Amino acid sequence: MIARRIYLLCLVAFALVFATYAIHATGLSERFFPARVQEPAPLSRTEFALSTLCTITLFEQANQTYQANYEVFEIIFRRIREIESRMSLFLPNSDISRINAAAGLAPVQIADDVFEVIERAKQIAELSGGAFDPTIGPLMELWGIKGVNPRVPSQEEINAALPLVNWRNIELDREQRTVFLSLPGMVLDLGGIAKGYAADEALAIIREARLERAIINLGGDVIMHGERPDRTPWRVGLHTPHAAQRTAFGIVRGRDITAVTSGVYEQYFIYNEVQYHHIISPFDGRPTRTGIISATIVSSGVSMDADALSTAVFVLGYERGRALIDSLEGVEAVFVFENRSIRATAGVDFTLVDDSFRLEN
Ligand code: ADP
Ligand code: MG
Repeated sequence: MIARRIYLLCLVAFALVFATYAIHATGLSERFFPARVQEPAPLSRTEFALSTLCTITLFEQANQTYQANYEVFEIIFRRIREIESRMSLFLPNSDISRINAAAGLAPVQIADDVFEVIERAKQIAELSGGAFDPTIGPLMELWGIKGVNPRVPSQEEINAALPLVNWRNIELDREQRTVFLSLPGMVLDLGGIAKGYAADEALAIIREARLERAIINLGGDVIMHGERPDRTPWRVGLHTPHAAQRTAFGIVRGRDITAVTSGVYEQYFIYNEVQYHHIISPFDGRPTRTGIISATIVSSGVSMDADALSTAVFVLGYERGRALIDSLEGVEAVFVFENRSIRATAGVDFTLVDDSFRLEN
């Protein structure tokens, strides 16, 4: 319980730091130091959805009214809640819950968007050599990290759950739009990819409304659309692992990019002085221990892919994780390690701002 409360507090702090930096990046601070050009004011809305704080920041522009922006917020949050209602593991009538209830029994027909996400999750599972595996559910349940009673399972329990975790046993039928988990007891969990998809959907709505700039932040899954009003790149602060305050260890700059951070210092429990977190290796069935405590994927592609990759690199570890990132066009990463060293790939515009960390490349 206490761990959970701490986690919630951390989550709030985490979301706040991004929000703060997003606002900072918009040039709101210029209001106190008036710039030569009158910059449009940002408008932002935060709601709790997808088990996290979701903040959308929009900017007034010549052809937009306050009312129009208000409607864009409405449409975005309605869409985010729709995605949650279909992809949540915790809502008994979601498409995901229906698929899980029918594991080993029958294919289940689902909404197009859920099909699309599962299909992509399967592709990234293959791409990552099974490090990212959306059938991680039985292991998540065993460790109970998202529940009220997390615990350390026995090796026997882990051994029994491992054969149920295998993305190859997700059978997709595109024509019928059905999903079938071929073994009874399999559990699909889109927790490592759904937020990224929701961020992409928010961006699609913003583009449709012809808004040139916006910042989407779904609990650390950030999209920076367009550029700052003064034509410079957006800046996003990366949250200092373990810090309760709104501090950032570094800044990533970019236009039209997504930056997705996964950290193992947010959702965890402590037992016998050992910390057990929420990214599980499908290979040994245990929370990953690779020395990485935070990984940010920075990409010009879709946020859904960046989200899944941010989870995958924890399982792969630095060497293999970096090799995977380096093999992908337009995808970069910033890794933070337990020993406070940081490594960033060549194509990311990253600036270290906290000198208690060391940048090593
Ligand atoms: P967060 O949700 O904190 O932003 P991630 O994007 O890394 O972090 O997703 C972690 C979630 O992904 C877990 O809570 C779980 O639902 C799921 N997950 C855990 N391990 C794996 C894995 N190896 N492959 C795919 N999904 C995973
Ligand atoms: Mg992820």
